[in-house]
Amino acid sequence: MSTSHLDLTVTADKVVLIHYTLTNAAGEELDSSRGDEPLPYLHGHGNIVPGLERALGGKKVGFQDTVVVAPEDGYGEHDGSEPQQVPADAFPDDFEVEEGMQFVVENDLGEQIPVWVVGFEEGLVLLDTNHPLAGETLHFQVEIVKIRDATAEELHHGHPHGLEGTEGHHHGH
Ligand code: ZN
Repeated sequence: MSTSHLDLTVTADKVVLIHYTLTNAAGEELDSSRGDEPLPYLHGHGNIVPGLERALGGKKVGFQDTVVVAPEDGYGEHDGSEPQQVPADAFPDDFEVEEGMQFVVENDLGEQIPVWVVGFEEGLVLLDTNHPLAGETLHFQVEIVKIRDATAEELHHGHPHGLEGTEGHHHGH
């Protein structure tokens, strides 16, 4: 007798497919997977914000709830700093900078600092060390649509490779 995937629960190293709608405390919709494919993530590997990952642990397919995530369990508190202006020509010519983009810069102490592109001014790119959703209380209306075993490659990479684990991709790790 085969075990139905419906018997699986969300535990570390399972790939979990969720549908979600994310709203902020004001009720504004920020993001949603509805109307598109569900989002796959590898449980226990920090693919999603800690508060949501914790709420999904131990749940089964069909679980639906609204999970409220405080900033410290989401994208962090806002540290109050203002975005920094960086000349647009400091970026390589073949590098297209887009709002929302995240990358890592090195500070004077040689530390790796994540920054987000939050806007543009004439000839300038605005970089913020705060995630765009830092300080926000996040409301995830979430549903678990599938739980499956991860492939060896997915476990090695620490993230899922598509809905079925078969999507090949090329990246540097
Ligand atoms: Zn990968």
